[in-house]
Amino acid sequence: MTNVFEKIIAGELPAEKVFENERIVAIKDINPAAPIHLLIIPKKSIEGIHMIREEDLPLIGECVKVAQQLADRYEISDGYRLLTNNGAKAGQTIFHLHFHLLGGRKLGVMG
Ligand code: AMP
Repeated sequence: MTNVFEKIIAGELPAEKVFENERIVAIKDINPAAPIHLLIIPKKSIEGIHMIREEDLPLIGECVKVAQQLADRYEISDGYRLLTNNGAKAGQTIFHLHFHLLGGRKLGVMG
């Protein structure tokens, strides 16, 4: 069964894309939790951060680089949060690896 992000990656569901290359797509979150709330999504089918393998580490590094570039473009590089939820207990609702990039206001404490 394909999830929302797999449909977006396949072009079957529209999304507001802010970055795309062969390996990664970044979109605006449909329900933003901060003035800037982007999702950086590797196209490779990986359920979550706990499932990444050694061979995926360059891809994860590239996601971090994309986050840096987007933080610069959206002028939040002086204060942003990059996070991923792993598992339903942590709040993961879409089981395809993605990183939230949040900023644009003073962010509260975590947990
Ligand atoms: P998580 O709860 O960590 O799995 O994050 C899933 C995120 O995806 C949530 O912040 C949702 O608001 C967001 N989301 C769900 N559907 C869409 C969609 N069609 N386009 C953009 N963001 C979405």
